[in-house]
Amino acid sequence: MEFQGVVKRFGDNTVLDGLDFSVAKGDRVTLIGPSGSGKTTILRLLMTLEEADGGIILVDGDPYTHEIRGGKRVEVPEKRRRAVRRRVGMVFQQFNLFPNMSVLENIIEAPMHVLGLTRAQATVRAEELLDQVGLADKRDARCTQLSGGQQQRVAIARALAMDPEILLLDEVTSALDPEIVADVLGVLREVAETTDITMLIVTHEMQFARDVSNRVLMFDHGRIVEEADPETMFTSPTHERTQEFLRAVL
Ligand code: ADP
Repeated sequence: MEFQGVVKRFGDNTVLDGLDFSVAKGDRVTLIGPSGSGKTTILRLLMTLEEADGGIILVDGDPYTHEIRGGKRVEVPEKRRRAVRRRVGMVFQQFNLFPNMSVLENIIEAPMHVLGLTRAQATVRAEELLDQVGLADKRDARCTQLSGGQQQRVAIARALAMDPEILLLDEVTSALDPEIVADVLGVLREVAETTDITMLIVTHEMQFARDVSNRVLMFDHGRIVEEADPETMFTSPTHERTQEFLRAVL
C-alpha cells in the first residue's frame, strides 16, 4: 500500500501534511511516536473511516479513494473501493464487537454477508480461528460476558475470518489489564509467524514491535522523522526526537 502526498485536516488542525510512505507485501511495519502524531489517522484512512483531504492512497497499485486524471480528482466507484477495502482488516483498541451477538455470530457475520460464505462454511472457519485464539469454549457466549482480553481475541479472530491481506492493529492492548496483555500479544505473534499477512501496527509495546516488525517508523506531527529496522530504532536511533521519545517510553 502506498500513501502519496496524503493530507488530512480536522478543522484547522493539519494532522498529515503531504505524507509519503509505502508498505510492501508481507511487511510488518510499526508506527511509533507521541500521542496525537497522526498514527491512528493513517490506519483509519486505510479503513476508509476517514477521508483524505489531499494526496492518494493506493492498495496494490489501485487508487483507493480517488485518482487524479488529467489534473482532475475522480472518485473511485464505491464498488471498486469496497473490493479493495475487503482486503484490509482492522483490530481496534476498544474491540468494537457487536455486543448483542454471540462470539460465533460476531465472527461469521462479515464472511457471510460480505464474502458470501454459507453459515456452515463460515462456522467451520470461525471454529478454527476460535481454537487458534484459545476461545473454542466461548463460541456461544455473549461478548459482554467476556473479559477485555477475551473480547480482543474474538476481535482478532473476527478480523482474520475475512482472510485479510493487510491487518491494521490500533493500540490493541491499550485498554487491557497488564496481566492479559501478554496473552493477546502472544496470539498476534503467532499470526505474524504463521501467515504472510501484511501488518501495520500502532503500539506502545516496544518489545512486541521489536519482535514482530521488520520496519519501524517514528512519527512526530504527522511526519516520519526516522525509519529503521527495529534493532537499529530501539538501540541506536539517530534522530533526537526519537531518542527523546524512546527514553520516555522504554
Ligand atoms: P495518534 O494515533 O498518533 O495518537 P491520531 O491520529 O489519533 O494520533 O490524532 C492526530 C490528531 O488528529 C490529534 O491532534 C487528534 O486530536 C486529531 N484528531 C483525530 N481524530 C479526530 C477527529 N475525529 N476529529 C478531530 N480531531 C481529530
